[in-house]
Amino acid sequence: MNSNEVLMKSGKRIALVAHDNKKEELLQWAKFNLEILKKHELYATGTTGKLLSSQVGLKIRKMMSGPIGGDQQIGAKIAEGKLDILIFFWDPLEPQPHDPDVKALLRIAVVWNIPVASNRASADFLISSPLFHSEYTRKVVLGVDR
Ligand code: PGA
Repeated sequence: MNSNEVLMKSGKRIALVAHDNKKEELLQWAKFNLEILKKHELYATGTTGKLLSSQVGLKIRKMMSGPIGGDQQIGAKIAEGKLDILIFFWDPLEPQPHDPDVKALLRIAVVWNIPVASNRASADFLISSPLFHSEYTRKVVLGVDR
């Protein structure tokens, strides 16, 4: 079994993504947690990132918009070990044009064993964990000989 350990530093690299009906909720959450989020390195899909910059005042490294490839860019960064946490407020009530990308992103986050929050309550639990602010070694199990 091929497994290895990845050290997550205390300063986390966090991806923030929200579907259109969930953007307001993510903005409210980010405003509430502004002082904590400022201490970390933040990434987001295009439109989510623009809103987090303009309305919350966070410094964001922006990817493309989700439906034209942003979700896949975030997924690639996870696979490359360049992201530590995914905050993804996805919409359970409406189909998205890029549903396959959404599924792929959620899948790759599990493959690489990074913490994922899919809604405000899970994001609250995640951000208030002592591990959010400290080093953590996560185990990655990639199956046989990959
Ligand atoms: P957006 O993408 O931030 O560019 O709206 C989010 C998504 O739909 O994945």
